[in-house]
Amino acid sequence: MSLLVVGSVAFDALESPYGKVDRTLGGAATYFAVAASFFTAVSLVGIVGDDFTPEDEKIFRGRNIDTDGLERAEGKTFFWAGRYSQNLNERVTLATELNVFAEFKPRLPQQYRTSKYVFLANIAPDLQRDVLHQVKKRPKIAALDTMNYWIERSNTELRETLKHVDILMINDSETRELSSEHNLLRAAKNIFKMGPTTLVVKRGEYGAMMVDKRGIFCVPAFPLEEPHDPTGAGDSFAGGFMGYLAGCEDKSDASLRRAMVYGSVLGSFTVEKFGLDRLRHLKRSEIHARARHFAKLTQFKL
Ligand code: AMP
Repeated sequence: MSLLVVGSVAFDALESPYGKVDRTLGGAATYFAVAASFFTAVSLVGIVGDDFTPEDEKIFRGRNIDTDGLERAEGKTFFWAGRYSQNLNERVTLATELNVFAEFKPRLPQQYRTSKYVFLANIAPDLQRDVLHQVKKRPKIAALDTMNYWIERSNTELRETLKHVDILMINDSETRELSSEHNLLRAAKNIFKMGPTTLVVKRGEYGAMMVDKRGIFCVPAFPLEEPHDPTGAGDSFAGGFMGYLAGCEDKSDASLRRAMVYGSVLGSFTVEKFGLDRLRHLKRSEIHARARHFAKLTQFKL
């Protein structure tokens, strides 16, 4: 079942204690689309500038990703720069240059308008809403990611968009900032009043937590000896999560729990190398092997 994603396709400059790259392909929608395409067909909505070459576009080729909705405009592609602390847990944003995204007016190709699964990746909340409104019928699942940049600059627009989504998927500091509540369970209750019925909190090396009216489910992050670059881990998590749900077309509690594990699996591969280097060469067999490893990791008897 087709999964629609709108979000940034970008060039990133990354610095971590393990190295530095001045310009590499990135963007929330790029990580998401590549991760989700292991499970289902993905329709990509975004914009790139004239500096985005056929070589860059190769990341989408040979995968189950439709790029008819990837617009090309005159000017520069979205650019983001970030630096990670020694333990990789904290990151500072050094630059956010919207470039062609500043004037972006998404137009969904006809074949995208019947999408049953929609992911609104981290991008301006009014653009997220605009995309959702172009989908003809209410999707089976609409999920949204955002970040402090938008919580602070576009709070009213974000709250309006949240009224129309089922799942909010953000990290712990964003959960606290959006809800003005430190405790994550109380934060979830606040967020449910804004519209979403499920909250997925991404917690970096501490894994991820899902809260809905049925209860709470937690997955660990996969223990890695040498993580290199956490950029895109959240988007890869979201891609694994939504890709799995769209692929199995089921939103039972059991499927949502498995989706959490596949999210964690994809996120863990992304951090093993810089940028998209690990996802680029990932194989389905490796995904399933790591999912089995997760099952072992969390199994115990009472
Ligand atoms: P993550 O590490 O999962 O939070 O996502 C990192 C990706 O998000 C990078 O590849 C960036 O290009 C992209 N990104 C960073 N800031 C923004 C923003 N304000 N809007 C859209 N995308 C962004």
